[in-house]
Amino acid sequence: MPVSNTCVKTGEGQVAMLQIPYPDEPGPGQALVRTRLSTICGSDIHVVDHLPVPAGVPMGHEAVGTVEAVGAGVTAFRPGDRVVVSCLLCCGTCRRCMEGDHQVCETFNAPANLLFGAQGEFFLVNGAQTSMAKVPDGLEDEQVLFVTDIMSTGFAAIERAELKPGDTVAIFAQGPVGLCATAGARTYGAGLIIAVEGIPERAAMAKRLGADVVVDPANAVAEIQRLTGNRGVDVAVEALGTR
Ligand SMILES: [Zn+2]
Ligand SMILES: [Zn+2]
Repeated sequence: MPVSNTCVKTGEGQVAMLQIPYPDEPGPGQALVRTRLSTICGSDIHVVDHLPVPAGVPMGHEAVGTVEAVGAGVTAFRPGDRVVVSCLLCCGTCRRCMEGDHQVCETFNAPANLLFGAQGEFFLVNGAQTSMAKVPDGLEDEQVLFVTDIMSTGFAAIERAELKPGDTVAIFAQGPVGLCATAGARTYGAGLIIAVEGIPERAAMAKRLGADVVVDPANAVAEIQRLTGNRGVDVAVEALGTR
């Protein structure tokens, strides 16, 4: 039975490294994954500080790992596969999953379908067949880690806005999610991408990831009006997350 050193929520605002046993044989539909690389996400702070997540829950929902073992019904993966795991687990067959809204999977009781335990040596994945993807050999762990949550969040904002080729886009704040929205807007063919960001390092990264213009938050509205001939943008993404 593998025992994992894992960061665990031990109370409101508290975590500790504890030893968690995992089964040698995962249950039906599950995979046991050995962590290669993980993150501390902003959402982890919410989980520890104020979300109704009970003490004893293993922390971490973004990871690249190596499959150790798979349960019955998991045919797409085998031990040794290097995988990324979606931060929100899905069954692939419930009504919501069939509609393409895997993040609100009914089988795994969204929003309780968050992956838990990625900040440990091992973690268990429910719905492994539909919640994991193999990593191509040519990509490093660091290049794919954000696919698990942050990149998919930024890209999903652009997808849900139904951005069309040539559209003008304003993306407010260029933290990790905003930067990924910028990359998503470029990928989906935006005509003009206006990033709103005041931190120089993030402004520079926004340019690297596809922003045409970076404007200061203090003048954002006036600059956007000027850049769009007073028309405003076709798509606006709020990626600040707080006021
Ligand atoms: Zn996250
Ligand atoms: Zn589902």
